[in-house]
Amino acid sequence: MRVGSALEIYEPSGIADGLVAWILRRALRLLLRPVFSPKRSIPFQRRWLHALTRFAPLPRGIEVVRDSVGEVPGEWLRQRGVAPAKAGVLLYLHGGAYCLGSPATHRALTARLALATGLPVFAADYRLAPEHPFPAALNDALGTYRALQTQGPVVLAGDSAGGGLALSVALAIRDAHLPPPAALYLISPWVDLSPEGGVARVPRGEVMLSAPWAGDCARHYAGPAPAETAIIDSGQNRLEQPEISPLRARLGGLPPTLIQAGTDEMLYGQATELHAALQAAGVVARCEITAHRWHVFQMHGGILRSADEAIGRSARFLMGPIAAAATPAHSHHAVVILGAGMSGLCMAIGLQRAGIRDFVILEQQDGLGGTWWDNTYPGAHVDVPAPLYSFSFEANPDWSDRFASASEIQAYMQKVAERYRLLGRIRLATRITAADFDASTARWHFTTARGDTFEAPFFVCSAGPLNQPRWPDIPGLQDFQGTRLHSARWDSSCNLAARRVAVIGTGSTACQLVAPLAREARQLYVFQRTANWVMPRLDRRYTALDRLLAKFPPYAALVRWIWMQTLELMRRGFDEGTWVRRGLLTLAASHLKRQVPQASLRAKLTPNYPLGCKRIIYSNDFFPSFSLPNVELVTEPIERITAYGIVTADGCDRPIDVLVCATGFDVGHMLSSVRVRGLQGRSLREAWNQGPEAYHGISVPGFPNLFLLLGPNTGTGHTSTLLFIEAQVRYAIACIRAVRSGHHRWIDVRAQAFREHNDRLQTRLSGSVWSHCRSWYRLENGRVIALFPGYTREYVRALHRPNLGDFELV
Ligand code: NAP
Repeated sequence: MRVGSALEIYEPSGIADGLVAWILRRALRLLLRPVFSPKRSIPFQRRWLHALTRFAPLPRGIEVVRDSVGEVPGEWLRQRGVAPAKAGVLLYLHGGAYCLGSPATHRALTARLALATGLPVFAADYRLAPEHPFPAALNDALGTYRALQTQGPVVLAGDSAGGGLALSVALAIRDAHLPPPAALYLISPWVDLSPEGGVARVPRGEVMLSAPWAGDCARHYAGPAPAETAIIDSGQNRLEQPEISPLRARLGGLPPTLIQAGTDEMLYGQATELHAALQAAGVVARCEITAHRWHVFQMHGGILRSADEAIGRSARFLMGPIAAAATPAHSHHAVVILGAGMSGLCMAIGLQRAGIRDFVILEQQDGLGGTWWDNTYPGAHVDVPAPLYSFSFEANPDWSDRFASASEIQAYMQKVAERYRLLGRIRLATRITAADFDASTARWHFTTARGDTFEAPFFVCSAGPLNQPRWPDIPGLQDFQGTRLHSARWDSSCNLAARRVAVIGTGSTACQLVAPLAREARQLYVFQRTANWVMPRLDRRYTALDRLLAKFPPYAALVRWIWMQTLELMRRGFDEGTWVRRGLLTLAASHLKRQVPQASLRAKLTPNYPLGCKRIIYSNDFFPSFSLPNVELVTEPIERITAYGIVTADGCDRPIDVLVCATGFDVGHMLSSVRVRGLQGRSLREAWNQGPEAYHGISVPGFPNLFLLLGPNTGTGHTSTLLFIEAQVRYAIACIRAVRSGHHRWIDVRAQAFREHNDRLQTRLSGSVWSHCRSWYRLENGRVIALFPGYTREYVRALHRPNLGDFELV
C-alpha cells in the first residue's frame, strides 16, 4: 500500500449523500446536542445514548460475541461463517468523552470495520469516569492490548476520546518497549483535553459537541488531584499531562497512523495539529479530512456514502502495515489465489458466489490492482473503452473518460474489492516463492518469501502475463550513473523537469509516456527499434448525463454490448483481405499523414511489418510529440549505454540524465519467480521448457487442481481481456465443483487433450498475422504463446462447460 504522509481533503459528492447528510445533521442536532451538556447528569446521558444507538443499522453477516480480554470486558465483531484469511485483530476504543459510550453504542461502526478490514474487532468496554477517572481507561486499554498482541498484529483504533486513548496507549506501549501496534486509526481524536486544546473554537457546522460539555467531561476524567498535590495542582495542570493529552507528548517512534475527521467539528483543529506533530516527529501519518462532515460521521456507514468511503479508505490504509507486521504463520484454505489483479478478484467473487468462502488472495505488491497497481507511469491508461473494461456484473457509472486512466481503473478494482468484502481475504506484500503439490494429501503447499506457509487443495494462479518488467539487453545498462526507471516500476518522486530524458521503446507503454514526458523534460530522446501501427484514439470525456444514464443497468449493459460487438468486429482486421483490415490500414495511413507532415519523419514512423502483428496502438498525442523542438526520434540502433548517455551505431553520443526503459515484460518466462511443482515433483519450468502452454490457457497436465487465469494463449489484441477472465473463472469453478461434488481428490487435464489442443492452436497461429514479426506475443523459436487466435465468442463458447472427458478425476 502506498502509505503517504499526506493531508487529503475529500469533498463528498452525490445528491443522495447530501440529502442523507442534511437529515442526519438535523437529527443529531436535535437529539444529541441538548443532551451532551453539563446540565444533564452523566447517567442520563449514558441512558439516552444507549437508547438512540438501538436504531443504528447494523450490517449483515457480522456476529457479536461478548467476551473479556486481559480481564477487560468487551465484544468481538467478526464476519459470520468466514475463517479469517490473515493474522491480526483490531482493538477498538469507543468515544464518549471518557464518561459515556460502550461497545454497543459504537457497534454500527465497529461492525463495518470488521467487514471492511476482514479483521476480528475487539471493542473494549473500558472503565468510565467519573466513577473511574484516569488512569483506569488507560490501564484497561493497555491490559487488553497486552493480551491481544500475543495473537498477532494489533491495530489500535478509536474515535474521539477513544482516539485520544488509543494514542495514549500507543505511547505507553512505546515507552514500555512492548511489541508495537501495526498501525493506529484515529477518528476525530480528542488528544488535547486542556482548555487551550482548541475545543473553544467550535465551527458553525458542529452538530453535537460543545466546549462546556467537553471541559466538564475532561475534568471528570482527570479526577480529583492526589491529596499531596492538591494545593498546587488545579486540575487544569493534570489535563496538560501528556498521559491525558497525548498531543503534548513526544510522538516519535509511533507506528503508521491514519487520522480522519470532518471540517464541521470541534476537534477538526486537533486532528490537523496531531497530523503535523506526527509528521514533525517522523511518523508515517496520513490525515483525511472530509468536507462538511461532523464528529465521527463514520458512525453512519450503511446510510451515508461518505462514511462508507472513509471506512473503506481506512481498510486500505491498514492492509499494508498489517501485512508487514504479521509474523510468519501456517494456514489452511480451500483455495489459494495468487495475485490481486482483475483476474484474482474476479475469481474471488466467483468463489463467493459459488459458496466457497474459505479462500485467500496472496499479493506480492503493497496494493491490489495487478498491472494497474504496477503501472503508474505518466499517461498510463487503458486502450479498451472503459465500459468494456469493467466486469459484466459490476458496471462502473463513474468513469470520467472513455479510455480510463490507470489510477481510475485501480480505484475501480479497489471499490469492487470493498463491495464484495474481499479486503479481509487479501494478504498484501506476500510473495509466493514455491508451490508444491503433495499427491498423498492432494493439497498444494505454498511458501512465501517471508516464511509464511499455506496449504489448499486448489491453486488459482492469476499472476497475469505482464508482471515481470523486462530490461533491455543493451551493453552498459548497469553502468548508467543517472536515474534509471522501468515504466512498470515508475518512481513518481523522480523529477524530470529541466532534465535530459531518454525513452527506449515505442510500444503501447512508450506511446502513452512520450507526450507527458515531452511536456516536462528539457530534452527527450525516443529510441525506436521498430515503428508501430498507430490508430486514432476515439477518446471523449464522459459528461454528467453520461454518468447519470450509466447508473441505469439496461443502458450500461447496452453500451457495454455495443462496444463488445464493435471490438469483436476488429478481430476481422487481423485477417488478410477483409474489409475491416482495409479500413484499418487506410485509417492508420491517414492518421500518420495528418499528424506527421514531414515526409522524412513519416518514413521513420512507418511500420515494416503487417498491421496487428504487434499490439496496435491507439494514440492522438504520440506522433505530434515529434514536432516539438525538445523531442528527437532516434531510429539509429543503440550500440551501448554509457555512464552518462546513449551511444548509437553511427557513433553519436547523446548525454542524458534519466533513462526510461519502456521495454515491456518478460512473458516467455511466465511464473518464473515461483517454483511450481506438480506430480512427481516435476516443475512447471520443466514442463514449459519449449515455452508456456496450457489447455484452454488454464490447465497443465501433471499439475492437478491448478488453474491458470490469463495463462498462455489467452491474450487478445482486439478486445477486453476481462471477457476472457470471466469465462476462465466460470470454467475453473466448474472444475472445482466437479472435484468436490464427485468426492474426488483432484482434477488433471489429460496429456493427449492438452497436446491436441495446443497443436491445433499453433497450427492456426503459424499462418496468422502474429507469426510475421518479433513481439511479446511470440518466443524466439517462433511459437506464439500469448494470443488466442480466434474471436472472443469462440473462446467463451469453448469454456462454457468443462469437457470432463478431457480430464482425469482422481
Ligand atoms: P512492448 O509492447 O513489448 O514494447 C517494448 C518496446 O521496447 C518495443 O518498442 C521494443 O522494440 C522495445 N525494446 C525492447 N527491447 C529493446 C532493446 N533491447 N532495444 C531497443 N528497443 C527495445 O511493451 P509495452 O509497451 O510495455 O506493452 C506491453 C503490453 O502491455 C502491450 O502490448 C499491451 O498489451 C499492454 N499495455 C496495455 C496498455 C493498455 O492501454 N491496455 C498500455 C500499456 C501496455 P521492438 O518492437 O523492436 O521489439
